[in-house]
Amino acid sequence: MAASRRPAVTLRTLNKQLAEFDLSGVEMAYANSLRRAMMADVPTVAIDQVSYNQNSSPLPDEFIAHRLGLIPLISKGVRESMRDTRDCTCDEGCEYCMILLSLNVTCTERSTGALNVTTAHLTRLTSPPGDPDDAEGKELLQKRDPDVGHPADRGATNRILITKLSKGQQLDITCKAYRGISKHHAKWSPLAAVAYEYDPHNKLRHSSYWFEVDEKGEWPPMKSANFEQEDAPGSGAKYDIQAKPHTYYLEAEGTGAIPVNDVVVHGFEALEDKLAPMILQLHKEVNREEGREPEDEQMGGDAPQENAFAAPVAAANPYATGTARGYGGGVSPNGAPAAAPGATAWGGGAGGGAWGGAANGGQASPWGNGAATNGGAW
Ligand SMILES: [Zn+2]
Repeated sequence: MAASRRPAVTLRTLNKQLAEFDLSGVEMAYANSLRRAMMADVPTVAIDQVSYNQNSSPLPDEFIAHRLGLIPLISKGVRESMRDTRDCTCDEGCEYCMILLSLNVTCTERSTGALNVTTAHLTRLTSPPGDPDDAEGKELLQKRDPDVGHPADRGATNRILITKLSKGQQLDITCKAYRGISKHHAKWSPLAAVAYEYDPHNKLRHSSYWFEVDEKGEWPPMKSANFEQEDAPGSGAKYDIQAKPHTYYLEAEGTGAIPVNDVVVHGFEALEDKLAPMILQLHKEVNREEGREPEDEQMGGDAPQENAFAAPVAAANPYATGTARGYGGGVSPNGAPAAAPGATAWGGGAGGGAWGGAANGGQASPWGNGAATNGGAW
């Protein structure tokens, strides 16, 4: 039974582009929360405002702004090294909270057909200086990776296309890129696709496979069937109404903005940040119900919250400690990368979508097709 197991993570593949790991000993809600936290709560940098000095390209301003927003920018470490602009003391963006980019291209020759304007034409500028008395801001700058803000496809032979220009046409713009999360807009998602599978033998009967002649022939096994420790049930096996899913096979593919291994770690941290205050409050309520004083020794008295929640969480809630221990200690890289990443999906989130399609002026749904839209840029 899932409840008696300790949370654990087993890594299968982990590199800059792809993370594949098994999560066990948790409820499905937790696995899904992790999926959503990795997708929507890990900050990146994306272009958010575009000023047009000249646009005589075939695409209207809004269309180009939308395409620019979807370009993954290098965002490694911005969780610790950049500030949300709404929390900054500046008026219109400064070096502590904003990356400034410009693009100025004119097509002067028709001989080779249209001129492709790509991310190679985007130049990072120096952002306006921040408040010199802001010590915290200066500290952020010191921590910042020097590559932050450059297009993530830097060095690739096929750069992301922004628009095309014919002879005499010009695009001259300035872009402001801010830190954000994809809960607010899908362009900030660090992942192109993230999904999980469970119960590959369908013992739990959560799926009902439609078929014409032969179910097994028409529905090949899930990828995770290769890793599932339990054998497939025999033909006469009884259905166990008490059974619960126990292992979730997660797969996350990045956009290039942040290495995926960082996204996984930050996803666990984001989840912990959300759960810790809730668990702390729950403990306080339980203590109050049972007539104990809030400054009960177990609660850490008036200690700061971070210290206060550590002990009770560990004592009472297997999930909270599981996040940390499961990822840090329980990791055992074993085995070679499995077959090509092929986004299946329980959990959804993986879809088509892409450049030029369904531009809807920034109203993309943060959960479902949003991530795919961003990922489509690649
Ligand atoms: Zn600022």
